[in-house]
Amino acid sequence: MNQRQREALLRLKEKAQDRLGLGGWRIDLRLHDGDELPREKAAARDILGNYLANWPIRYANVDVAIETEGHEDQTPEEVLVHEVVHILLHGTRDALERLRSEVAPQVYETVMELHQDREELAVRRLVPLILEALTGEGKSDR
Ligand SMILES: [Zn+2]
Repeated sequence: MNQRQREALLRLKEKAQDRLGLGGWRIDLRLHDGDELPREKAAARDILGNYLANWPIRYANVDVAIETEGHEDQTPEEVLVHEVVHILLHGTRDALERLRSEVAPQVYETVMELHQDREELAVRRLVPLILEALTGEGKSDR
């Protein structure tokens, strides 16, 4: 990925932030060479993107691996937008977090797991639509 493409990803991040109402946030984007994230950036291997978000202080960082060899189904743009949508939806976990000390740990874990599964499904469905809105190109055009 050349400098021009890196700058385009940064601009896409700014645009996604703005359009998704995260304009007041500081979101640091860290691009990693290679086709997976460094070991310390991801819980599992073979991961292209990851994020950490802190809603109360409106800060997040996003890590994106920029070589997509072996992942032709996912462009760095898609990975980036995927993580930004997660940051937006991360706020919905706050309500669950507040219940954490009130319910049995197993109940909390089960509900949180279900929430995360559904969040992942929602993110995957939303990303192509958002990316199309942001860039004016859909996957079907390629
Ligand atoms: Zn995800």
